[in-house]
Amino acid sequence: MILYSTKNPQLKANLEEAVFRSLPSDNGLYMPEYIPKVSTQFLEGIEHLSFNEIAFEVSKTLLNDDISKADIQMIVDRAFDFDAPVVPIEENIHCLELFHGPSMAFKDFGARFMASLMSYFLVRSQKEIRILVATSGDTGGAVAQGFHNVPGISVTILYPSGKVSDIQEKQLTTLGGNVTALEVDGTFDDCQALVKQAFLDAELTQKYNLASANSINISRLIPQSFYYFRAYAQVKHLGLPVVFSVPSGNLGNLSAGILAYKMGLPVEHFVTTTNRNNVVPNYLETGVYNPVPSIETVSNAMDVGNPSNFVRLTRFFGDEWEQVKEVVSGFWFNDDQTKAAMRDVYEREGYLMCPHTAVAYLGLKEYMNLTKKDLTGVFLSTAHYAKFLNVVEEALGSADVEIPARLSELLNKTKVATPMSTRFEDFKDYLLS
Ligand SMILES: *Cc1c(COP(=O)(O)O)cnc(C)c1O
Repeated sequence: MILYSTKNPQLKANLEEAVFRSLPSDNGLYMPEYIPKVSTQFLEGIEHLSFNEIAFEVSKTLLNDDISKADIQMIVDRAFDFDAPVVPIEENIHCLELFHGPSMAFKDFGARFMASLMSYFLVRSQKEIRILVATSGDTGGAVAQGFHNVPGISVTILYPSGKVSDIQEKQLTTLGGNVTALEVDGTFDDCQALVKQAFLDAELTQKYNLASANSINISRLIPQSFYYFRAYAQVKHLGLPVVFSVPSGNLGNLSAGILAYKMGLPVEHFVTTTNRNNVVPNYLETGVYNPVPSIETVSNAMDVGNPSNFVRLTRFFGDEWEQVKEVVSGFWFNDDQTKAAMRDVYEREGYLMCPHTAVAYLGLKEYMNLTKKDLTGVFLSTAHYAKFLNVVEEALGSADVEIPARLSELLNKTKVATPMSTRFEDFKDYLLS
């Protein structure tokens, strides 16, 4: 796989370079130079394949120039011991549950595959890697779980003190081993600034192989395409064109869906659904991209005013707005609508959705009502509702709901975190010591 920078098509990298650098030196994004198609045979028999079989086939199509088949199999099987089931909710409306991984959010797919791929490259090159991640919640948990006990890699997670939920904090601070948590006396932006500065510091970069695990890394994008294929496999027998509604923030999830589509997955249409941070629905409507500061909502993992994967999304369509619009529609909903949907679907169907998932549900309903075509609608559930109990309580008037053992056990564990100021010198001393 050859990748190029969205800012300069001449600036190229191979897979290994793109995975360890995350970003090209000109601060563009890595894009595959060529997107291969999956075989028609694969699509014809896809309903008989497991998640890992599908992940293997899609990976092989993308990565066969870089990695042998046997190694791709090993990388896939080490990454995934969980599935992405589709469950029916209402007539023609299905939910793709992406929360069956270790941190109970869809970011597990990206983080686990990235860890597995990095560790494959490391074993061959004997490098030691130190990963630095700033998190506002979900990313940190998925990355911590993804890299826990991976040999040759240590992980330092920076999170803003008092600004992540109890469950999220426990996910970051209770693993131990090669995962260390720094509780920063500041905001998420402060955490991110510390990480950015570390990558620019000569002394640190000389002493360590620093790597980032952020969401624009190509090795997080690739595995997110697998579950679109897996979803298609499960609804194919219904015989109707398929529409996906994706709850969107930084657009990594949607971009991965477009990657699957460009590889030949039969998808009728995508819906990108946001909360009040609606720059992407506005762009789809007007053709004008107008990034703004983010605003706080109940679906806070989607509070993004300038999505980092926006450039990737448009590049898939040659940066032509008309082309993007052919395949992607955008809708947005406010917090009251989101909570009402959580309550409504729970009362009618007995199915409880996290706030992000509820936003995707609303976008799908809106699209299906507008088009009036016979379609199979699939909305993506990006996290388990129990990670957002405060919002569940606001929506239902009570949080007296079942909490999966994996999360309730966490709450009894003891947090281990090192307090950290927002001064770079303190962070640097910590890293050097
Ligand atoms: C990260 C996240 C999103 C947004 O996904 P993007 O790929 O950034 O668009 C949606 N829901 C949840 C629960 C998340 O953690």
